[in-house]
Amino acid sequence: MTQPAPVLLWFRYDLRLDDNPALIDAAAKGPVTALFVLDPALDGRPLGGAARWWLHHSLTALSAALAERGVPLLLRAGDATAIVTEEAARIGAQGVVWNRGNTPWLRRLDQTVPVALSRQGLAHRITASDLMVEPEAIRTGSGGAFKVFTPFWKTLQAHHRPAPPQDRPETLRGPGLPDGPIPVPEDWGLLPTRPDWAGGLRAAWIPGEAAAHRRLGDFLQERVQAYGNRRDFPAEPATSRLSPHLRFGEISARRVWQVTEALTGPDGLPFLRELAWREFNHHILFQAPDLHLLPLRPEFRQFPWRDDPKGFAAWSRGKTGYPIVDAGMRELWQTGWMHNRVRMIVGSFLVKDLLIPWTAGEDWFWDTLVDACPANNPGNWQWVSGCGADAAPYFRVFNPVLQGEKFDGDGAYVRRWVPELNRKRQGVHRPAEAEDLFRTPGYPPPIVDHNRARDRALAAFSALKEQN
Ligand code: FAD
Repeated sequence: MTQPAPVLLWFRYDLRLDDNPALIDAAAKGPVTALFVLDPALDGRPLGGAARWWLHHSLTALSAALAERGVPLLLRAGDATAIVTEEAARIGAQGVVWNRGNTPWLRRLDQTVPVALSRQGLAHRITASDLMVEPEAIRTGSGGAFKVFTPFWKTLQAHHRPAPPQDRPETLRGPGLPDGPIPVPEDWGLLPTRPDWAGGLRAAWIPGEAAAHRRLGDFLQERVQAYGNRRDFPAEPATSRLSPHLRFGEISARRVWQVTEALTGPDGLPFLRELAWREFNHHILFQAPDLHLLPLRPEFRQFPWRDDPKGFAAWSRGKTGYPIVDAGMRELWQTGWMHNRVRMIVGSFLVKDLLIPWTAGEDWFWDTLVDACPANNPGNWQWVSGCGADAAPYFRVFNPVLQGEKFDGDGAYVRRWVPELNRKRQGVHRPAEAEDLFRTPGYPPPIVDHNRARDRALAAFSALKEQN
């Protein structure tokens, strides 16, 4: 009996076997050959360093999981439209299948690739996207897209329950593997070499689908009940840390939603509400593909940002003299992740205390976060700055000392990441206060006086408001 022709399954940021509609579709049609193409067109800009590290390991894990089922994963770098077409023709595929994109860039490819395929007489099928609800499907009462989170969340809960996730297909099989080792993206240079700065990332994370499911399971068993009350305290392991797994599609939001609901009932709602912020930001990105470049509130294009390379260097290296800011920036540098509360504090400090453009912060996060997300990162930076959808009001300027004292009362978080302050028993959030100067050798004095910086920010933001 002759083997049916293979189906080419094109992976993008959906690097998993579970709840993968394209995989299910492909497996039902015949033997599967998988493909991932490294192309800046996937994100509209090159991936940052930490995300590249994650991608390397995620693809390695996916390649091994597919190989167990005899499915080869082809790894190619270059122009995705050309490569998908080329590979499909080369393997004699009966067609190409992939999941609909969940960003404007992926959706652009969803348009260009079918044209190129049909020019070669090749069939294709695009299955459901990774989003819980398609942006076109959820509308305000007046028929527009949501710009405010709370009504979005209420509508999502009431009328748009995510479709149930689908299990990985039993029937998945490939045409067999070529001889030799399982392919890994070794020659793409995704991993840092000189210097190898990824030691902290290796210690903190295990990329891949299996680890994503373990993380979700542990979180739901041990921490979800306390999530609503404890999620703002950065010293505690109170949140799920699923963000990089979700970013690379190692677990689907539908699966997270379904398992959480099944195991926790209403206790899981505070957690699901955060998951809905991810969805909301993706929907915003659809309306504003330049989200990482342009403020959603156009008046902010005239904002008098400061050019302050020294301030930016102190911020990015965790040397501002404000312990909670420095702890967050060092946690980010070492582990590729930062607690959400601290992301808000460091964001406010950059944009409001230093008046440095939010785009500079967004860019730094893009390069250093393992979960650097084209929707969540700019969406949240715009939120922090007051120029985004449903943004924090411009007059909310976080006081980094009070925030530290409120959310890291005993200083455990600061001490973990700022060893210079390790020996301080009290006042860890106020090391610059006169009597303490002698006790914190090696720790810098504050680069700005917060109260004066706050007044300066409020004056600049009020002037902008008056002009508009
Ligand atoms: P949990 O609290 O366990 O939440 C579960 C999931 O819900 C997260 O994994 C994430 O997918 C989603 N989520 C939680 N909070 C938010 C939020 N505020 N906005 C959107 N989705 C959310 N998140 C990213 O995934 N990528 C980013 O690049 C990113 N950049 C950010 C930049 C700034 C300035 C700020 C303030 C926040 C940013 N966030 C980003 C949102 C949030 O900080 C992270 O999603 C969260 O800290 C991830 O940790 P967790 O998985 O333990 O979250």
